[in-house]
Amino acid sequence: MSSGTSIEEKRKIVDEVLTVYPKKTREERAGHIGVSDPEDAGSCAVANNVKSRPGVMTIRGCAYAGSKGVVWGPVKDAIHISHGPVGCGQYSWWSRRNYYNGILGVTSFVTMQFTSDFQERDVVFGGDKKLTKMIQDLDRLFPLNKGITIQSECPIGLIGDDIEAVARETSAQIGKPVVPVRCEGFRGVSQSLGHHIANDSIRDWVLGSRDIPDEGTPYDVAVIGDYNIGGDAWSTLKIFREMGLRVVALWSGDGTIQELAHTPRAKLNLIHCYRSMNYICRHMEEKYGIPWVEYNFFGPTKIKESMRKIASYFDDKIQEQTEKVIEAYEPMMQATIEKYRPRLEGKKVMLLVGGLRPRHTIGAYEDLGMEVVATGYEFAHEDDYERTAREVQEATIIYDDPTAYELEQFASRLDIDLVGSGIKEKYVYHKMGLPFRQMHSWDYSGPYHGFDGFPVFARDMDMAINNPSWDLIQTPFES
Ligand code: SF4
Repeated sequence: MSSGTSIEEKRKIVDEVLTVYPKKTREERAGHIGVSDPEDAGSCAVANNVKSRPGVMTIRGCAYAGSKGVVWGPVKDAIHISHGPVGCGQYSWWSRRNYYNGILGVTSFVTMQFTSDFQERDVVFGGDKKLTKMIQDLDRLFPLNKGITIQSECPIGLIGDDIEAVARETSAQIGKPVVPVRCEGFRGVSQSLGHHIANDSIRDWVLGSRDIPDEGTPYDVAVIGDYNIGGDAWSTLKIFREMGLRVVALWSGDGTIQELAHTPRAKLNLIHCYRSMNYICRHMEEKYGIPWVEYNFFGPTKIKESMRKIASYFDDKIQEQTEKVIEAYEPMMQATIEKYRPRLEGKKVMLLVGGLRPRHTIGAYEDLGMEVVATGYEFAHEDDYERTAREVQEATIIYDDPTAYELEQFASRLDIDLVGSGIKEKYVYHKMGLPFRQMHSWDYSGPYHGFDGFPVFARDMDMAINNPSWDLIQTPFES
């Protein structure tokens, strides 16, 4: 499947788009945009994981967003303190749809906003005393919490506060883990370093810190890097359970701090979001000898491929059961494809998401006959682009940390039928008359993972593209 636009034509489009920049910016941005070329396996290897150019309207966030917003925030039975001034915690308050079960404010705290609300005096005199008092108060006010994390915002590292000392002292006082996380937004170049820092904080302060009660079963697995957006991890859990596996930990959507601590009992780590959690999988492999396998639960082709790959790590019993599960869902998958594929066949999609979905959702679009003609990441690394090269069609435009201007240009020049990106992009494209789906928040829909997610995904894409409102953008009184 190919859009018919050649590699050369796509390169010409990229060059034209870049002409608007001053020389230095043009040269730098040119390194971040490529066109996939099967003749040249490295053509998806665009420059990545480096600083954004100032003033170009990057779509990126910061390390705090990667740690508190993505990795730690969903851990439901712990209290996460946004340590610093009020902004970061307030803006990120319940803005990511990492679903969970629990009693808010009693056993679970995901959708609450805890902040040390720094004032000028805290910057001048330091915030350690305030933090100590806050942790003691929080443990008294919310006694069923199972731990507390300190998510550092920008000023903390700059003023020289010793949050590690506070963590050790208060942890001994309250008898629960208190985890200091050095995820100040000035560290790194994007959310990505925040993931790494958060992974390392779990490694150093939580993982393996509890006695594992029993040997477990040969079928114990952990789901790593599923944040349960709109219930994604729940539709995933259902499949693993039906396959006969026992999921002992969720990292971290609907997960608990206890589960994180107990994960070394797993026999296999199943990793969905490679970018945000490959670090902890590598560590568990080195320290505990737990193998890990990447999987993809977007769209029936990838789901079935992944289930068989995971089953191959286990015995005949699991493998046979896996085939039965696949067979059982086949009619539902076929019915979805029969209903939606004729309405979506040949539609061209442009994506820009964070560190996983720009490649992971391609299979689901292709199951519906759609073609991803341009895709890219906010904060991917070299290894993500290598994986992307295996998923994209020839002549796909690949961009790293694209600017708002570049995305608008590509959307208008590539005759796109659907844009999939984030909230900062959404309304720009609506005003351009282009169908748009939010591919972070699922546009308040979902789940999109697993067999239960695919019909929702297909319905949502159809609803966006074939919506009658797109025919009404132009006033009838203008020729
Ligand atoms: S860059 Fe600093 S101030 Fe901005 S959201 Fe991140 S931690 Fe907060």
